[in-house]
Amino acid sequence: MARIEILTAGHCTNLEVMAHRASPWRPAAFAAAFALIRPQGGGALLFDCGYSRHVMAAMAGFPFQLYRRLLPITLGRDAAAQMAERKETPTTIVISHFHPDHIGGLPDFPQARLVCSRQAWEWVRGRRGLAGLRRGFLADLIPADFTDRVTFAEDLPQDGQGHFRLEAGDETLSLVPLPGHVPGQLGLLARRDGGPRVLLAADALWRRTSLEDGVLPHPLAMLVHHDRTAYLATLDRLRAWKQAEPDLEIIPTHDAGA
Ligand SMILES: [Zn+2]
Repeated sequence: MARIEILTAGHCTNLEVMAHRASPWRPAAFAAAFALIRPQGGGALLFDCGYSRHVMAAMAGFPFQLYRRLLPITLGRDAAAQMAERKETPTTIVISHFHPDHIGGLPDFPQARLVCSRQAWEWVRGRRGLAGLRRGFLADLIPADFTDRVTFAEDLPQDGQGHFRLEAGDETLSLVPLPGHVPGQLGLLARRDGGPRVLLAADALWRRTSLEDGVLPHPLAMLVHHDRTAYLATLDRLRAWKQAEPDLEIIPTHDAGA
């Protein structure tokens, strides 16, 4: 039973129709949510870490101004400030994938162990400039000692469902492969203190309603996803899971309700 707090660190602005093709063509905020997880037995982990000033600095030059023009970013209070307020020092950051709205705060946590999938890392590793932009990857956000601090999910023990088991405090959290948006995207599954299980679902879906109404992102936004077939298969799997376990709370990063 973990205490799970859903927080946000900034947002970008895009058209609502991009997330949900039946919605209006009006600008909407896509919050960069992240989660603070305090497992039983102590310690604190983050799932992703939102935007931060480091993203703005890394996007200052060509070609990333293009990205900023397309998806204007509004910074909020960053993850580091929110952790300082709570007097928490996260010892582990689980990285769902390497888009800037998920890893923007990494430079502010130089001591944390990092956990991600090897597949997600290999997909972006070494890509700079246009090669990085094509995969939405800002190499400047990656700490110089990344390889010393990272644990790859694929090297953790697996359970019967193909989830990777991450020990935290007295608990075992599950890292759930959610491929499609990018290769190797990970969600995090934990039981909320006194409540149901929670799946932090990153960008496997952008709007919670997509699970019930089956409405997909706009075709233009679907182009952003690396593998459309895998994306749809992941969405189907989440829908079936939610039907089998109605209490399960599925929280997308950009529709976290935080
Ligand atoms: Zn993403």
